[in-house]
Amino acid sequence: MQFHHHGYVSHDPRVLPAEGTGLDRPDDLPDEVDVLIVGSGPAGMLLAAQMSQFPSVVTRIIEKRDGRLVLGQADGIQPRSVETFQAFGFAPRIVAEAYNIGWMNFWGPDPEHPENIVRTSRTEDYGLKISEFPHLIVNQARVLDYFAEAALNGPGRIVPDYGVEFTGLTVHETGEHPVEVRVNDHGTERTIRAKYVAGCDGARSGVREAIGRKHVGVMAAHAWGVMDALVNTDFPDWRIKCAINAEAGNILHIPREGGYLSRMYIDLGEVAEGDNHQVRSTPLETVIRRANEILHPYAIDVKEVAWHSVYEVGHRVTDGFDDALDADRHPRVFLTGDACHTHSAKAGQGMNVSMQDGFNLGWKLGHVLTGRAPQELLSTYAAERRPVAQQLIDFDREWSSLMARKPEEISDPQDLATYYLATAEFPSGFMTQYGPSMIIDGSSRQELAAGFPLGKRFKSAEVTRVGDGNVVHLGHHAKADGRWRVYAFADADAVKLSSWAESVEPLFARYTPKDGDVDAVFDVKAIYQQRFDEREFTDAPALFRPQTGPYGLTDWEKIYSAAPTVWCHDDIFEARELSRDGVVVVVRPDQYVAAILPLDDVDELAAFFEGNLLPAS
Ligand code: FAD
Repeated sequence: MQFHHHGYVSHDPRVLPAEGTGLDRPDDLPDEVDVLIVGSGPAGMLLAAQMSQFPSVVTRIIEKRDGRLVLGQADGIQPRSVETFQAFGFAPRIVAEAYNIGWMNFWGPDPEHPENIVRTSRTEDYGLKISEFPHLIVNQARVLDYFAEAALNGPGRIVPDYGVEFTGLTVHETGEHPVEVRVNDHGTERTIRAKYVAGCDGARSGVREAIGRKHVGVMAAHAWGVMDALVNTDFPDWRIKCAINAEAGNILHIPREGGYLSRMYIDLGEVAEGDNHQVRSTPLETVIRRANEILHPYAIDVKEVAWHSVYEVGHRVTDGFDDALDADRHPRVFLTGDACHTHSAKAGQGMNVSMQDGFNLGWKLGHVLTGRAPQELLSTYAAERRPVAQQLIDFDREWSSLMARKPEEISDPQDLATYYLATAEFPSGFMTQYGPSMIIDGSSRQELAAGFPLGKRFKSAEVTRVGDGNVVHLGHHAKADGRWRVYAFADADAVKLSSWAESVEPLFARYTPKDGDVDAVFDVKAIYQQRFDEREFTDAPALFRPQTGPYGLTDWEKIYSAAPTVWCHDDIFEARELSRDGVVVVVRPDQYVAAILPLDDVDELAAFFEGNLLPAS
């Protein structure tokens, strides 16, 4: 973590100095804002935390609840989300309080006594095999707390405006603030004008309705009860995630943070035709009785139920993720999270995918509203996120129908475990791959960096920092601060790297505000092939040793070494199959690989940024 470069800091260094709208933020909702976020769920809160890094943009987040969420529904956090938490600065703290899923066990009917369940397999959880970040269980309310802290501690000092309900909106054709939003502000009806609105208002989204978008899909005829319970039990896997397929039905059992609490999703069977959602009033006692029938010969003695619900599985995607009904119009209103995709809870994806919607949208709004990028950039939000939502629905439909099978429909007791492992990259959050666009360079030279697939998130690896010899994860240095990352992997003798560094300086300067730090838009890092102790920090080109802040202090954390040492076991060139002739990997502010170019092709790099950035005024 870097601080002190604006002068000595004696307080918590995570609290960044307030800037712009964060300096004299009014308590009351103003009549005009740049961005109005509706809803403070995972999608809205991540977006607020991201917008706090753009303090010249007036952003407000309204929430109809009176205060913070106390008890959330979601709790499964995929490794990609933990990686995102790292970018927002709170991964280590949330990991420390969460339940870490190390294993997933599978249970089925005992062949000798089919009325009893037996363990059929133990499977190591996929999380740590795919990423250096774990797969966690922690309450949605805590995730929101951490994002609220990031939004408050960012230079924009954003805090939710609780007790304000969105009631409708009209998008006008003209005006600097063309979106007229109607709200109920603590009992008073009023309007707010906004440049852009983000509908993060959940499955029953009023914003979706206001822009005329429709949820398309079906409610499946299967009901599940869910409860967070404190119990005593003789079931030996109470602290291990389990899928239980018994003659009496199915349970997905997930231990929770804190060492005692567990969540159970309990199969309530097919919903009769014409039920008209009556199943949702199934009493808690029935849910507990079903759980005990399925767990036989084991039993749970329930001491307390912290939360419970009954729901029917539905799979729906909205017919558009913004209000641009024809291709010529720039979007003004966006839908994120459950407002545009809903599905079952058992694959643990909803909150995770919703947060990635917010991450995808946030930097784009920030760039357009600060004049860094053209308005067309905003159309890439719907183009990129809608296919991801469709994949999510397809995956969840398959996983929930596998989970809901009857034992006689299962020919191989191992097949659920096999499917779980074979598809692991998807629920980890790492399958997303954006196609070529103005922010994904279709003419990239993938063969120069096979281990950084174009359009996928940048997969970190360990390197040694030349300045201090510390082993660090290259990707963990990338904060959610809205900057582009440019990783220049050196050729063997670093001759090409030096001339690349010289030729790109004017290119980066073109897009960097004259009164800002030289790395305000591009965070450029060099990775050499030699050991860290064979390089002299001060010999590196000046591009990698920028002097920033009011004192113009040298940044010592942009130069790295790939060669393994006794502490650093990996060579990132080997691990990510990088060309030994050097390669430039460009990574977007939301951590997706955007371009892969040789060190001697500065023109292609210039053409790429020409397509998505505006010169600094
Ligand atoms: P929400 O979390 O629904 O937030 C929307 C916010 O908007 C709310 O705070 C609401 O009060 C506010 N709002 C609504 N209307 C208005 C209005 N008119 N004006 C102002 N504010 C408004 N997902 C996972 O990833 N992992 C899991 O393990 C998981 N488990 C789940 C278990 C259950 C039982 C359920 C039901 C869901 C689960 N999910 C899980 C899904 C997850 O909860 C949602 O996908 C996620 O919360 C969606 O986030 P969101 O920000 O889009 O919407």
